[in-house]
Amino acid sequence: MSGHLTDPVLAGVRHGFGTRDAPAPDVYVRPHQVHGAAVVEATACRNAAQPPDADGIVSALPGLAVAVVTADCVPVLLAAPVGTAVSAVHAGWRGLAAGVVKAAVEVLVRVSGAGPAELVAAIGPHIGPCCYEVDEPVLEALERCHGSAARAAARPARPGHALLDLGGLVRAALFDAGLPAAAVGGAAAVCTRCDPERFHSHRRDGARAGRLLHHVTASGPTSSQG
Ligand SMILES: [Zn+2]
Repeated sequence: MSGHLTDPVLAGVRHGFGTRDAPAPDVYVRPHQVHGAAVVEATACRNAAQPPDADGIVSALPGLAVAVVTADCVPVLLAAPVGTAVSAVHAGWRGLAAGVVKAAVEVLVRVSGAGPAELVAAIGPHIGPCCYEVDEPVLEALERCHGSAARAAARPARPGHALLDLGGLVRAALFDAGLPAAAVGGAAAVCTRCDPERFHSHRRDGARAGRLLHHVTASGPTSSQG
């Protein structure tokens, strides 16, 4: 198995979650990721001498792919109806604690003119609850932003630690931002650490881990390209 993973909720929108050997799009823009909650528009990214610091990017530019990279954190790709505006988001625990998912939904709503209930979102390959142990300060930081959903996504591990379902927390954040349950896909949500054949993993490979690239492309206002 190689190439990109796709999600049925994004049918009709050009997108892909990267694996180790997936080719990058010929042309794409991506922000300089800093584990925060800033979300930039692709126009600002494209015209800047250096990519702006952000962990989400929103585009309504037809044909220009926007992307984020990950190695265990959660990649999320979102789209407004028929893909007229799209977003790529990098959500690790720090970005989640800062509210990056909600911020991306807000910018996509503003750029697209669609309501949150009209958006779709796909959750891509990330470290699973099987492998993602965090400590109490991380849970407390997540609880400040996500309330009871943070504890609901955690189950006890050794003392002072928990195994965290990061993807589950992203899903909860998307619902909280107004997306309907059926609009959130997880077809590509597999554990990066458990599958060295297909995925890079920071927890497994350390600082030398490679990065997976995930991309999505807006279609023109009257186009329905797949
Ligand atoms: Zn795992």
